[in-house]
Amino acid sequence: MSGHGSSNGRVVPAAFPPPVDSRKEFVKRGLDAEDELIEVGVVIVGGGTAGLACANRLLQLLADDPETMERLGEVPVAVVEKAKTCGGHNLSGAVMRPGPLEELFPEMSREDWRKEGFAFGEVKKESVYILPNSKTKLRIPPPPPQHNRGNEVMSVSALARYQQRQAEDAGAYILTETSATQLIVEDGRVVGVRSGDKGRGKDGEPLGNFEPGTDIKAHATVLAEGCWGHITGAAIQEFDLAKGREPQVWELGVKEVWKVAKPLDRVIHTLAGWPLKISAKYGQIGGSWIYPMKDEKTGDDLVSIGFIIDLDYADATTSAHDLLQEIKLHPLFKGVLEGGERVAWGAKALPAGGYWAMPKLSMPGAVLVGDAAGIMNLASLKGVHYAIKSGMLAAESIYAALKRGESSFEDYEQIVEDSFIGKDMYEQRNTRQPFQKGLIRGGPLVNLMIATKGRFPGGRWSLHRNDAKPMFIGNSKDSYPKPDGKYTFDKLSSVFITGNATRDDAPNHIRVRKHVPREVAETWRWMCPAGVYEIPEDAPEHGEVDVIVNYTNCVQCGAITAKGGRLTTPEGGDGPLYQIT
Ligand SMILES: Cc1cc2nc3c(=O)[nH]c(=O)nc-3n(C[C@H](O)[C@H](O)[C@H](O)COP(=O)(O)OP(=O)(O)OC[C@H]3O[C@@H](n4cnc5c(N)ncnc54)[C@H](O)[C@@H]3O)c2cc1C
Ligand code: SF4
Repeated sequence: MSGHGSSNGRVVPAAFPPPVDSRKEFVKRGLDAEDELIEVGVVIVGGGTAGLACANRLLQLLADDPETMERLGEVPVAVVEKAKTCGGHNLSGAVMRPGPLEELFPEMSREDWRKEGFAFGEVKKESVYILPNSKTKLRIPPPPPQHNRGNEVMSVSALARYQQRQAEDAGAYILTETSATQLIVEDGRVVGVRSGDKGRGKDGEPLGNFEPGTDIKAHATVLAEGCWGHITGAAIQEFDLAKGREPQVWELGVKEVWKVAKPLDRVIHTLAGWPLKISAKYGQIGGSWIYPMKDEKTGDDLVSIGFIIDLDYADATTSAHDLLQEIKLHPLFKGVLEGGERVAWGAKALPAGGYWAMPKLSMPGAVLVGDAAGIMNLASLKGVHYAIKSGMLAAESIYAALKRGESSFEDYEQIVEDSFIGKDMYEQRNTRQPFQKGLIRGGPLVNLMIATKGRFPGGRWSLHRNDAKPMFIGNSKDSYPKPDGKYTFDKLSSVFITGNATRDDAPNHIRVRKHVPREVAETWRWMCPAGVYEIPEDAPEHGEVDVIVNYTNCVQCGAITAKGGRLTTPEGGDGPLYQIT
């Protein structure tokens, strides 16, 4: 491989795959003895918006059907969530299309959402800009996918907390601080998941407070793990769910919430342009947002500001965190933040492959929902309403099957395909792919795809994996601002305000090769928003280096999995504790 001994050559991270064998390590063959396991009706892995919408809807259906409820046993619905509370690991923009949430909780008005503290106002005005440079802006008419009037500004972290309360009140058993670490398969069928051990030391040794994990047996398993699913990945391999589909690709977003002196009156997006290097050589495609948030409880004016980068870039020194710091200094944003104060920070990846990259959505005994299913509309940056709707559709399909006394959830995929989710995803089926040619050549094709709803140029356009992109060490890093502690911040002080509570002696949950070409090491170092990867100061300038992995800083954004490593589940309760992201 050209990577060995390379001197800023073009090195492909995929040539240095992480030491992981998903099927062997993360699929457990058979359940433990009956007296050693927990038995539930439906187990949902992931207490994010999608998983909790599934729990909320299932419990609504079961409340009207005591017979089926009883058949599901003492615990009809269980949700396994690795964060300290639901919402702790959830982050989004977020401007949400309101329909599915209105359908899930029909008795609530949008005023009620705001009083509950997870919604922050209806979008009344919107502007889209291209930034030619660090000083000027060019306003353009919002492209159709960016039409946001009537949508609601939200926090998915706060929404998940609300959904958790609703689910618990309706009888769900929510196991927070619990990672699901293995998919349990018996006779070719998913029969539940295993929760992770707690209280292991750095080298995996049991400590004084050690508690072993438990098998959770279920009639149905819902995988709602979000953008990079640990168990979802194992399920995709075990049941060949990605056969005949395009590979999934990802983007990474870094976000801050600021308390501001004056309210912002509109949602603003910027596309391409400064500070990105848009030539095909650098391959940087991305954009930013700033959304107004009125906190009804405190009366505070807040904004959500963030930057998203497509993980198909080639310059190893691309950093979404630093690009966000840089963009805040543009007058368009600085004017809004002036006199304000940063109150939250976080980072998360999102699936960007669209329709052709969605895996098969069901397997014997289990289904996929939300981002875990790759259900995300990249052109409009919308996934929250799909997460809610797919969770609801999964609940309805599982409930109907269990009521009939059946155990196949095969029809769920077709139900999703026939819903507005399938229609929207199909219309956007080729929107992401032209960007692989770079913004200048691909951009006009993307516009054509959007304008013709995917009809022209039609067919199925292929995707290539993010970790197959050859990397070089460029100069994007040269323009990143030095942190001033007022507008711009470094990665470590940002991680600090997430409330990250990973024990210093926790086992390492990040799998990467430690000995890699500098191009790969630099890619990880700059990409990771939490500053997890370090290159020793005395490492050789060229050739291979030994990467230091400060895994206790990890905010579980998932990006490493796209660029040559693997995020696995940490011990339950570790990681950030987002409140308003
Ligand atoms: C930066 C950014 C901006 C976005 N902006 C918008 C926007 O403006 N509008 C919009 O509509 N959409 C937006 N999206 C997309 C939207 O946020 C997602 O589509 C949606 O939140 C996905 O919800 P989910 O429940 O599927 O996944 P998640 O919210 O990721 O939830 C998954 C949950 O599963 C848990 N989990 C995962 N694995 C395990 C395990 N093995 N064991 C236990 N727990 C586990 C996680 O801790 C997490 O709580 C944005 C996304 C990002 C990243
Ligand atoms: S180490 Fe954690 S925070 Fe850093 S890129 Fe990987 S998953 Fe994201």
